[in-house]
Amino acid sequence: MNKTWNESVRNSLKTASDCNEYFDHDGFQEGSFPIKIPLEFAQRINKSDPLDPLLLQILPKETQSSNDFLDSPVSDERHSPVKGLIHKYPSRVLLISSSVCAIHCQYCFRQNFDYQDNDILKNWPDIDSYLSRSKEVNEVLLSGGDPLTLSDKKLSKILKKIESIRHIKTLRIHTRTAVVIPSRITKEIISMLNKTRLKVVIVFHINHAQEISDDFIKNVEALRNLTLLNQSVFLKDVNDDAKVLAKLSYKLFESSILPYYIHLLDKVTGAERFLISDNKANEIFIKLQKLVPGYLLPRLVRDEGGESKRLVL
Ligand code: SF4
Repeated sequence: MNKTWNESVRNSLKTASDCNEYFDHDGFQEGSFPIKIPLEFAQRINKSDPLDPLLLQILPKETQSSNDFLDSPVSDERHSPVKGLIHKYPSRVLLISSSVCAIHCQYCFRQNFDYQDNDILKNWPDIDSYLSRSKEVNEVLLSGGDPLTLSDKKLSKILKKIESIRHIKTLRIHTRTAVVIPSRITKEIISMLNKTRLKVVIVFHINHAQEISDDFIKNVEALRNLTLLNQSVFLKDVNDDAKVLAKLSYKLFESSILPYYIHLLDKVTGAERFLISDNKANEIFIKLQKLVPGYLLPRLVRDEGGESKRLVL
């Protein structure tokens, strides 16, 4: 019998000893960002390869960080007029809809984010009043954590609340859960997103073609009439190669997903081992331009301390 996505979350690897046993490894140890790896993701890792690009993303390995690596590198807090809401750009706001992720990525820039008091349903009266008077806002992004770690019931409640604000036209959902636990794309989610009056954009977070399973390709098919995009993080030893990125672009395209952004690493404490220099990133990107058509080329960007995204090339 197929597992439900809730069971997959419950059965994830969550301790160093679980991981060492599962991967027949001795390199896992508890770090400051707790381990969390769904078995669906773990199964995509080549156990005999210590440099497997998926393994490297989830293996805790604290590195001594230089001074420009910070606990909160993108300063979300400075742009939060109301608890649970971040407003950086005039036309769109981001809601911290969940404090939970299905996987813990060791390069995550929000690993130290203070999610307390950011529950958007609890803070809805303030969020509603802010959104209702912010007539220039036409798009709401659900981020987290990961919005798809919420139950269908809670998501539906949030969706209805957003739909009731007439000047909001677009709903954007950022998710890595749908990729690492493909059964999260449930019939209920598909129906909810197909029925809403809002234009729906889903931005998947996928860094490497090896993350894309047959189950994901099959389940995402039902979302094809929505706008499907992908963003990646440029990560040393994971995807710092033009051919690897080209393969990802083509694999995404098979599922009608277009590459949208590739982000230079946000310098979060402990993640220095993932850093690619700007020169190296530019070099790889120039090669990538020759390997894929323009519509399969993500935009290379850097988050500028919370103010804006800057195109690097
Ligand atoms: S899924 Fe996204 S928010 Fe969650 S740990 Fe990974 S990078 Fe961070």
